[in-house]
Amino acid sequence: MSRLDGDVAIITGAAHPQGIGFAIARTLLAEGAAVSIVDLDPEACVAAGKRLEAELAERGVEAVAPLAVAADVRDRGALEEVVARTAERFGRLDILVSNAGIAQPRRIMDISPDDWSATLDVNLRGMLNLAQAALPRLSDGGRIVAIASIAAQRGGGLLGGPHYAASKGGVLSLAKSMARELGPRGIRVNCVNPGVIITPMNATAFDAETRQRMIDAIPLGRFGTPQDVADVCLFLASPQSGYLTGTAIDINGGMHMH
Ligand code: NAD
Repeated sequence: MSRLDGDVAIITGAAHPQGIGFAIARTLLAEGAAVSIVDLDPEACVAAGKRLEAELAERGVEAVAPLAVAADVRDRGALEEVVARTAERFGRLDILVSNAGIAQPRRIMDISPDDWSATLDVNLRGMLNLAQAALPRLSDGGRIVAIASIAAQRGGGLLGGPHYAASKGGVLSLAKSMARELGPRGIRVNCVNPGVIITPMNATAFDAETRQRMIDAIPLGRFGTPQDVADVCLFLASPQSGYLTGTAIDINGGMHMH
């Protein structure tokens, strides 16, 4: 018996094989969940689904074939369609992972109105959109996991600008309000705060010298991996975290302690 047998999950921003969402999808699938992969590009979603099936088969893991559905998290109607298709395919809905996000390096005076809207709309409104689209179908006892960021805790300064940090601060705050309101339904809402995780978002953002300086400041002596984040998301989506709600877990190798 695996930890998520019979559960059904929707994961946004999950199409890139080197991204955090893909690792979360792989991890939840390996623990017995059925998963809908959501991202912007339909072909990338389908390719991700096939790749996940192949990777798990290669490891000898029996997993439910993922459903690939393209949607923009800024569009609540598109997410309602994702929820409808997920329920139609898998019959239920138990876990939401709000992972889709964008990060723009900017200084305060360089943040344009469009930058602000794009960042807040994807990173924060996208989380609300997913919850609003899914809550009518989400099972009592469901779990919502949102990917916030160390940027919200330490005033940015890594890759995303102040608007990115503010959007992730909003994620932490929205998660607490959702946890309070949804607790009576047994729905738990928690966040993770990744530190620096090497993914397509930041793979080319730092030169070798900067990378080394950053690593030297991390007590565990390395950047994080998407799997480091996925393992904690699995915990938050599983019964093992049954008394956690409205909280956030840091995944930063000790880079920021508070
Ligand atoms: P990534 O760029 O690989 O993943 C983000 C995914 O979201 C991409 O696949 C992208 O296509 C998708 N996406 C973007 N806009 C979307 C939209 N409007 N609708 C649907 N999908 C959309 O980067 P990642 O590092 O894997 O990021 C995953 C999450 O982790 C993000 O929320 C990011 O802010 C957060 N995070 C990352 C780090 C890090 O160091 N990589 C640190 C802290 C937090």
